[in-house]
Amino acid sequence: MAEMGTLHEAFVEELRDTYDAEKQLTKALPKMAKAANSPELREAIESHLEETRQQVERLEQVFASVDEKVRGKHCDGIAGIIQEAQAVMQEDVDEPTADACLIAAAQRAEHYEMAAYGTLVAWARAMGHDEAADLLQETLDEEKAADEKLNSLAEGGINEEAAQGAHQDEDEEEEEEPVGAGSSKRSSSSSPRRR
Ligand code: ZN
Ligand code: FE
Ligand code: FE
Repeated sequence: MAEMGTLHEAFVEELRDTYDAEKQLTKALPKMAKAANSPELREAIESHLEETRQQVERLEQVFASVDEKVRGKHCDGIAGIIQEAQAVMQEDVDEPTADACLIAAAQRAEHYEMAAYGTLVAWARAMGHDEAADLLQETLDEEKAADEKLNSLAEGGINEEAAQGAHQDEDEEEEEEPVGAGSSKRSSSSSPRRR
């Protein structure tokens, strides 16, 4: 007869998943930092790498606080997000576009973690595991701050810089093509260039 699972067991499963996710990130973030062109972006990723290492240790404290053995269980979700980040880093694009794409990939990871920690904090509180809840909340706050930092870098210049070259392909095409009726699939060739 299969035993019914409890919320405590589900909590421990989520902890194991998140522990593995953080460990995967400690390996992925150095590659992402190396791929960054903007020194501010590289620094932001490196400093979050340092935080991530501390988050791994903090999760070990969480396991201990609920008398559970420290153990990871492969996290498919973050593996997929990291795989997509690696694909993005292979793309042949200009530097600001590469940084914009890197930020997009990193923010996916942060949001995934924010979802995980949000649940963990809520479940820990609901079960009266207050020490665990406090530790998990600390990490949740760090993930949110990391996400906001990435946002401010994107919106503080990187997106704008990337956007400057955003329609270069189209412009080149338009210059080559004779402008005649039906010569282009873009009928709005008279619209102002976006630069
Ligand atoms: Zn419990
Ligand atoms: Fe993390
Ligand atoms: Fe994070």
